[in-house]
Amino acid sequence: MGTTEPESKDFIREIIDEDLHTNKYQGRVHTRFPPEPNGYLHIGHAKSICLNFGIAEEYRGLCNLRFDDTNPTKEEQEYVESIKNNVTWLGFNWEDRLFFASDYFDQMYDYAVQLVKQGQAYVDDLPPDIISEYRGTLTTPGKNSPYRERSIEENLQLLEAMKAGKCADGEKVLRAKIDMALPNLNMRDPIMYRVLHATHHNTKDKWCIYPMYDWAHGLEDSIEGITHSICTLEFENHRPLYDWFLDQLKVYHPQQIEFARLNLSYTIMSKRMLLQLVNDGYVNGWDDPRLPTISGMQRRGYSPESIRTFCKRIGVGKVNSTVDYEFLEHCVRDELNKSASRYMGVLNPLKVIITNYPDDQEEQLEAINNPENPSAGTRMIPFSKELYIEHDDFMEDPPKKFFRLTPGREVRFRYSYFITCEKVIKNGADIVELHCTYDPDTKGGYAPDGRKVKSTIHWVSAPHAIDAEVHLYDRLFNIPDPAGKKGHDFKEFLNEQSLEILKNCKVEPTIQTLKPFNRFQFERLGYFCIDPDTKPKHLVINRTVTLRDTWAKIIQQEKQSA
Ligand code: ATP
Ligand code: MG
Repeated sequence: MGTTEPESKDFIREIIDEDLHTNKYQGRVHTRFPPEPNGYLHIGHAKSICLNFGIAEEYRGLCNLRFDDTNPTKEEQEYVESIKNNVTWLGFNWEDRLFFASDYFDQMYDYAVQLVKQGQAYVDDLPPDIISEYRGTLTTPGKNSPYRERSIEENLQLLEAMKAGKCADGEKVLRAKIDMALPNLNMRDPIMYRVLHATHHNTKDKWCIYPMYDWAHGLEDSIEGITHSICTLEFENHRPLYDWFLDQLKVYHPQQIEFARLNLSYTIMSKRMLLQLVNDGYVNGWDDPRLPTISGMQRRGYSPESIRTFCKRIGVGKVNSTVDYEFLEHCVRDELNKSASRYMGVLNPLKVIITNYPDDQEEQLEAINNPENPSAGTRMIPFSKELYIEHDDFMEDPPKKFFRLTPGREVRFRYSYFITCEKVIKNGADIVELHCTYDPDTKGGYAPDGRKVKSTIHWVSAPHAIDAEVHLYDRLFNIPDPAGKKGHDFKEFLNEQSLEILKNCKVEPTIQTLKPFNRFQFERLGYFCIDPDTKPKHLVINRTVTLRDTWAKIIQQEKQSA
């Protein structure tokens, strides 16, 4: 899965091609993305956004952004705003087609009255638990409610009373009158309206009855003239119900098409679980870079291009499966490799004194911004007598394969000089400083006599360095499927080490010119971005992803063993 680009069209685009061919919708292609504003969007939603808006773009059709806001108790304006921001950030545009299901509440009510008048809906007084008991099971038929045969007149009066606020929450519901013996449980007189005295983010206190999802959703698509109503597989056996409603009302019919939802390893993709992590403080808000939310990924430094590429490359299918997190990271890395400027930063600094470099001298050296993109040009970086290198890049007593700095060895300091370690300064067992010498003839990093060094390491000039706090992220969970482990709470599998904060990092001064969310590479370390919590004297940097591409390795191994 995910390793190869889909070469042929997916089954959804094949259906659309066929519909265009038979002129089913007079040449129209009109999709929608219908989130419920009850949480922030995650990468699964990104797949749906790319699919719906992507199809509209490819076929020169239209795609609506529609908030499916039928449940006032869980929905909030904050979520509406975050969803709009996420869709825009991903690179899509709903133009003047921003809709709310709540805008159709009057129309939905009129449709309900129509069904009552047609003898196809009734008011039921059974309490909710009895209704679900009467529903039956997959192997046993349901039971008719004693209220099922009320007259049309009585039903109209009672529905009006429900709407007028004369009933308490849960006292009555409106149900479709279909057949309690049908094998599809969704068709056994499903609830259309419930009484709920709650303030809605949009309609405020106008309504005290609210439509159920299954009643509302197909109507919304019909009202907006959607041609292809694309949703996830769970809704396959709701389709007969949506069709039944639209057939009885004799209104416009979209085509519902179901596809497999995206699952990603080592994370969770349910708004309910995400909400728990946010509300109970397991993470720092909906945009915590460890979360699979679109806002989290933006803050982590994932680019919208890379998420779009990921969604395209996993494709759409009919069978549920799980995509490896490494594949998403591979797409992120691939894109950043092309687009991100390179800088130098030291996460775990070790002081280096160049003993033969003049005390008060400093110089500016030219560094390449992006070897993958010559048009990104070069910049100047300061070099001086006191530098920082990565602690890991020095070993006093190295194993055979360690080619970086050790006592007596010469290495290249990127873009500057050949440097030799002459002396190790220690405090007890701790290495606190290295005394080194440089060869002035190797400026730029090459020796005129042609001698070679085995490694190049990064560094930052100490007096010029900017202090930074760097946040390193690891997987949020310890196991691939934390939500799927029976008998366990998914929170048991949270990775305690998912966030490491390094407070003493030193970075080159150019970083100061960057703005929150700007993405870049620290040479040899990985891709990073500026965190929006950055303040004038407090630079915060997030590590997006390391340079090590385990996915590329997996593909390589697959190829070799094939
Ligand atoms: P969750 O299951 O995470 O609580 P949801 O399905 O209730 O989410 P909605 O706001 O109803 O969230 O989803 C909006 C759209 O996004 C729907 O059309 C839904 O099918 C699609 N979608 C949600 N999750 C995924 C996923 N994991 N993969 C693909 N599409 C998804
Ligand atoms: Mg949903």
